[in-house]
This record gives sequence, C-alpha cells and structure tokens, in this order.
Amino acid sequence: MIIGLIRQGSDIMKNRKIDFRSDTVTRPSPEMREVIFRAEVGDDVFGDDPTLNLLQEKTAELFRKDAGLFVPSGTMSNQVALNTLSEPGWEIICERECHIVNYETGGPAVHSSLMINMLTTERGVMTAEEIEASVRPANIHIPITKIVTIENTHNGHGGTIYPLEEIKKIRKVADKHNLLMHLDGARIWNAHVATGIPLSDWVAPFDSASVCFSKGLGAPIGSMILGSRNFIERARRNRKLFGGAMRQVGIIASAVIYALDNNIKRLAEDHINAKLLAEGLNDIDGFDIDLSRVQTNIIIADISGTNKGSNEVSSVLEENGVLSVPFGPTKIRFVTHLDVSREECEKAIDIISGLKF
Ligand SMILES: *Cc1c(COP(=O)(O)O)cnc(C)c1O
Repeated sequence: MIIGLIRQGSDIMKNRKIDFRSDTVTRPSPEMREVIFRAEVGDDVFGDDPTLNLLQEKTAELFRKDAGLFVPSGTMSNQVALNTLSEPGWEIICERECHIVNYETGGPAVHSSLMINMLTTERGVMTAEEIEASVRPANIHIPITKIVTIENTHNGHGGTIYPLEEIKKIRKVADKHNLLMHLDGARIWNAHVATGIPLSDWVAPFDSASVCFSKGLGAPIGSMILGSRNFIERARRNRKLFGGAMRQVGIIASAVIYALDNNIKRLAEDHINAKLLAEGLNDIDGFDIDLSRVQTNIIIADISGTNKGSNEVSSVLEENGVLSVPFGPTKIRFVTHLDVSREECEKAIDIISGLKF
C-alpha cells in the first residue's frame, strides 16, 4: 500500500529533466522507503540504536577495518577524521583539485589549523616519488609534514581511479617518514566495481578512510569514518564536538543497509552508461571529452569548441531538459547514477546533438 502510493508519486516525475548534476541527486526508491518505515531505532548518543550499530559493524567488516563511525556528510567525515589524526600546525599533502581543499569551505584551516601542501597532477595521482620529495626536512623553522590525503575515485579529475600499486608505494614512503594516510573514498565503491579489487584492499594502506553512502549507492544521507578501534573512539568524541552526533539515526541507517545490500554491484551500469554518454557527447561539435579519463561514472566535457562559456552551455542544456554542472569556465560535468537509465543517456545525446551553439 505504501509502495503503491510512492510509485504513484514517482509517476508524476516522469517528465522530469534528465539529471546528470551529481550522483547525490538520487532519491530513495520505494523499496528503500519501506525499509526506513520498519527501522528499529534507539538513541545513538547512548549507543542504543540497533540498526546503526548493525550498519557500523557491517561496514567495518566489509572494509576489514576495526571499526566505523557514522556521520551526516562526507565533508564531516573527512574533517572529523583529519581533526582526530592531527595536531594544530601540522602540514598535510593534498592533490590540488581534491575535495578536501576545494569543496569543504576551508575546513582543514578552520577546524584543525592545518597547513596544506598542494601537489599539482595530471590525473589526480600524486606518485610516491612526488610525495617523498614534498616531505619537509626536520628544522625548527619549517612546518612538519604529517599526513597524506588521497581521493579515490578523483572527482575533480573526472572519476579517475588511483592505481592501488601507487598507493602501496606511498604507504612505504609514509612508513619511512612517519606520515599518516587518510583516504577520501567518497566514491571508493566505483573504484571497487570498475577494477574488481576488493573494498578491503583499497582501504588497507590507510590509517583512516571516509566513504559516502549518499552518492552512487543511493542512500539519502550519510558517510562513514573507518579506522582502528582507538582512532574511532577518539573520532566519536570529535563528532560530538562538530555537532554530528545524532539520535534515532536508524531511520537513515536502515536505508544505508539496503543500499549496501542492493546498490553496489549495479554501479557497473552507471559506468557503462557513462561510457555511452561520453562517446555520444564526444561526437557532438564543440564537445571534447578525454575518453581515457572516463573510468567510472563521471564525464568532464570540454566545451571550448562551442565558443561559449560553461554557464551558458549548461543553461541551454537545462532549457532543453538536460541538467549538468559547470566545472570551471570551459568544462561541464555529467555524472551517471541509479536515477538515470541507459535510455535517458541516449535521449540526452539526441537532445544535445540537435542543439545549435
Ligand atoms: C561528495 C564528496 C565528498 C562529501 O561531500 P558532501 O557534500 O559533504 O557529502 C567528499 N569527497 C568527495 C571526493 C566527494 O565527491
């Protein structure tokens, strides 16, 4: 009965725009809402929410880390993790286009008094050699390099996958120089599905990891910090400090458990759809896509060839029923996800091919 009503509601959305703005726009399916409806809950600040406890155990087990801590957003999970790892004044090494530096409102400076050393890369991959060359010498004048952050897949570089072999080499450099490693694995699920490498292998080299449930997995809210038991205990205190401790959070955790059980493998469809869309867009005059970067569910189209700016091109697409986001002055980002079908990707190519710029 509930599902029936929700289905009726979603039929009204039939003529909605094709939404490639982000994999965060996915809405809970009727089945997910049914699970939310039945969720057993308690007060998580007392550690009493059985559904959340189950989710934290289940996720830690999936990644083979000691423990997990649920937080409301990926930004909070990166920031609480960094705050828990660090001391004020430490320097952290980050890739120039990464989320932690560009899309978290200056969080490392505001919350944790961290210095950032940004390395410029071609595809989001800082090599072990580049990182080693950036470690500061010990000297009372100079900040202390203490943390390396890695983003996988890399959003700013178009959903590119960080090679695991390189991450392992970076771990060796980190051990040699006494550095900690944090993974921004908001889309680690996509790297896992695209490569077949287990989730646990992807996070094993890291002291802490952040993973998001509200992107491709389609849960409405939430991320998780993973790490050792001691680290997670300290992160739990910091989550309270940041205002992120919640009460009957099983309402959300139930949806996340549903997403973990049902929506990981299907990410492969998003990757196939992204390739299809990328190839179609690349054939359109004025659109240029580096197809070798389309490794998961993100497409960055260079629209310089239209002689228009990205805001204008994105607006024209929107007027014609296709949503995207401007990504710098000459680029537009498209993201595939569980709320856009193959047919909609084909339809979008048709629509955009018919436009005059
Ligand atoms: C989305 C995202 C986050 C988290 O962002 P929120 O908006 O806080 O959920 C973190 N890192 C990367 C790489 C992301 O794409």
